[in-house]
Amino acid sequence: TVRRAGGNAYCVYRHGMDLDGTDQVELQRELRHAIERGQLALHFQPKLRAADGMLAGVEALLRWQHPVHGAVSPAVFIPVAERFGLIGELGQWVLDAACRQVRLWHEAGADVPVAVNLSAHQLRQHDLEACVREALRRHRVPARMLILEITESVAMDDVDASIRVFDMLDAIGVQLSIDDFGTGYSSLSYLRRLPARQLKVDRSFVRDLDTSHDAQAIAGAVVRLAHALGMTVVAEGVETEAQAAILRDLDCDELQGFLYARPMSGPDLLNWLRQRDPGSVSRFAVHNEQADP
Ligand code: C2E
Ligand code: MG
Ligand code: MG
Ligand code: MG
Repeated sequence: TVRRAGGNAYCVYRHGMDLDGTDQVELQRELRHAIERGQLALHFQPKLRAADGMLAGVEALLRWQHPVHGAVSPAVFIPVAERFGLIGELGQWVLDAACRQVRLWHEAGADVPVAVNLSAHQLRQHDLEACVREALRRHRVPARMLILEITESVAMDDVDASIRVFDMLDAIGVQLSIDDFGTGYSSLSYLRRLPARQLKVDRSFVRDLDTSHDAQAIAGAVVRLAHALGMTVVAEGVETEAQAAILRDLDCDELQGFLYARPMSGPDLLNWLRQRDPGSVSRFAVHNEQADP
């Protein structure tokens, strides 16, 4: 699609751009069939402990391999799914696929906690707790292996609802993480009332760490705030050694980004783990091959 990009410039449609109405309608029609046609997959990106580089867990990121357009970015199709009422089904598929993968890794000898992104719609879904419980039960995954990420702006949009949902999920032992922190408008008094275990510093601050004093000041303040409230801090989008060094100096707990690994399939994650840290994968399970979920 060729579209007008402001001024006289024209550019070819890219991922990350807003789709116009017609494109959205077309995409949602295809998205409806994506699940049954097996075009969706979860990829997993490692989060490493800053102190020793050990794997702390992974974040599950949804991928849609479109037969014609190729890989469609979740930044494009998640908003479409939200708008056209498909996010409930999609979110449930993601929860189930993430728990299934945790079980497969466990059977292959590696216990890897997984973080799943929740959409605004899921936060309002009255049967969210039942869906989470059911996914854990079906794949016999302990609740402590599951982390749910909710962006700061979504969590703060309806704070009372968020507190209710967070309390309920916390009660069943699932951990909560506040994603893209620093881009929303948190009230500190509300932050204190949310039983979140983790804050994720938004990539925009990480990107500017080595060039901007302000970005460093903000990242440092987020780390101190989180620690004061008993939470851990993850930095997302770490791409350079310089950024990682600054984040370690700032006492950030976990690092995630292309510097360490890109999101990858479940089986690839296991191979990655075996190569860099053979001790973390049980010796008795290394021949236990797993199928792609
Ligand atoms: P997010 O939750 O903040 O996820 C992190 C995004 O940053 C991912 O993009 C990841 O691939 C990307 N990333 C990680 N490290 C680096 C890095 O070093 N440099 C750069 N430039 N990018 C990095 P992705 O996979 O395209 O996902 C985009 C967003 O789509 C996610 O942001 C999340 O909000 C949403 N999303 C993805 N999967 C799901 C899902 O299953 N459910 C829901 N509701 N939303 C999802
Ligand atoms: Mg996330
Ligand atoms: Mg994030
Ligand atoms: Mg982000």
